[in-house]
Amino acid sequence: MRLFNARPTKAFCSCSRDSVANMLTMLGQDEVESIIEEQGSIQIHCDFCNKHYVFDESEATQLFEEVVPPIKH
Ligand SMILES: [Zn+2]
Repeated sequence: MRLFNARPTKAFCSCSRDSVANMLTMLGQDEVESIIEEQGSIQIHCDFCNKHYVFDESEATQLFEEVVPPIKH
């Protein structure tokens, strides 16, 4: 599954869990739910930096629920 189109135009990869989550919300709830149905979770691998992101069903569902205020570090 290729959801993340990382192009090697930079010397480093700026992907993050937040940007993956954002991408999933852009993909749409229907699409995300159908992936969950098929695969049980959403797994996104970044070809560029080799990071692996996993969103389980509850995490994926949360993406489409009310916006959670950002966590301060
Ligand atoms: Zn990456």
